[in-house]
Amino acid sequence: MLKLNFHPSGRHYLQIPGPSPVPDRILRAMAQPTIDHRGPEFGALGLKVLADIRKIFQTQHPVVIYPGSGTGAWEAALVNLCNPGDTVVMYETGHFAALWNQLALKLGLKTEVLGLPGGQNWRCGIQADLIEKRLSQDTHHQIKAVCVVHNETSTGVTSNILAVRRAMERAQHPALLLVDTISGLGAADYRHDEWGVDVSMGGSQKGLMLPPGIAFNALSPRAIAASAQSRMPKSYWAWDEMLSMNKSGYFPTTPNTNLLYALSEACDMLLEQGLPLVFTRHQRWANGVRLAVQAWGLPIQCQDPAVYSPILTGVVMPDGVDADQVRQRILERFDCSLGTGLGLVKGRMFRIGHLGDTNDLTLIATLAACEMGMRLCGVPLAGSGVQSAMAFFADHPGA
Ligand SMILES: *Cc1c(COP(=O)(O)O)cnc(C)c1O
Repeated sequence: MLKLNFHPSGRHYLQIPGPSPVPDRILRAMAQPTIDHRGPEFGALGLKVLADIRKIFQTQHPVVIYPGSGTGAWEAALVNLCNPGDTVVMYETGHFAALWNQLALKLGLKTEVLGLPGGQNWRCGIQADLIEKRLSQDTHHQIKAVCVVHNETSTGVTSNILAVRRAMERAQHPALLLVDTISGLGAADYRHDEWGVDVSMGGSQKGLMLPPGIAFNALSPRAIAASAQSRMPKSYWAWDEMLSMNKSGYFPTTPNTNLLYALSEACDMLLEQGLPLVFTRHQRWANGVRLAVQAWGLPIQCQDPAVYSPILTGVVMPDGVDADQVRQRILERFDCSLGTGLGLVKGRMFRIGHLGDTNDLTLIATLAACEMGMRLCGVPLAGSGVQSAMAFFADHPGA
């Protein structure tokens, strides 16, 4: 065993917005022996997880499961739908949207990046009317797809996906709607079918409470039809062979068997509880954490309460304070990991994850670590965020 004595005693607080802590129940499920991925036992497991994951995406249509990280889900969607040189519209809501844009450019696609100037959308999410306006101008229907991020993990801002679909309908444009819900899935309400999404991208290590290593593409019938016309080079990511083998619960290449045990367990946990309860649990935690930040007198990165993320909160530091130094201090002194500022907001804010396998006391401890760490770094605080969060959690029992 590698012994670096990082965590001398007690539990590490993994409070980044993914990977999120993995529940013991899931760790135990993963510890089963790896089985023959062409045998009958695997077929039953494959059919179960392929059915369960549809319920999590709230879709009746196929979901493709890859061994891969979320980035693979981005690439898979684009190579299965596009032709070389196609134009896609990207909406810059934050660092992850920007990375997806870079990936599309590396694939040789043309991209058009929409957004308000000066990174304003990093604080308020997507303005669907900008998408409507751009699509209305595209009278020859050159734009193949609109790519948006549902829960921007770099900012703690969500976007209204149904509003995007409605904007596309008003423009009467046939572009496909591609949505990254890699950090939203299993934590924030997400409705693939009802919102008219063509491809939804998911990952294992955030709301699903699994280790990293699974990427998902949830498909619409339109996306499946469009993929038959796509001429982008692809092999590993190709949906066709995957979809035909998945019908009997199997995969073209070796699937990550033990992670699929974990996925099966995670779906059981989420579906036993019921998705509505899972979503309200996250909203309640997010409320408590935001009250704490407000009591500190610090700005929240998201400026529009209508699109606050239920998954994470971005805490903006006063001018002259390096948010990364604060984050580092909290990690070293209190063994609590927080998310770093990414891209435009690097050094300006840190991120508190409140997703998956957490509870009130874990979040109180996390807020205490933040409060002590900021005190150590000389950050002026208006009051105690811990007190506010305790009062909120005590007065608002969960369902
Ligand atoms: C985590 C994340 C990704 C990237 O996933 P990887 O697993 O790191 O490849 C993409 N988009 C969003 C919104 C994410 O939160």
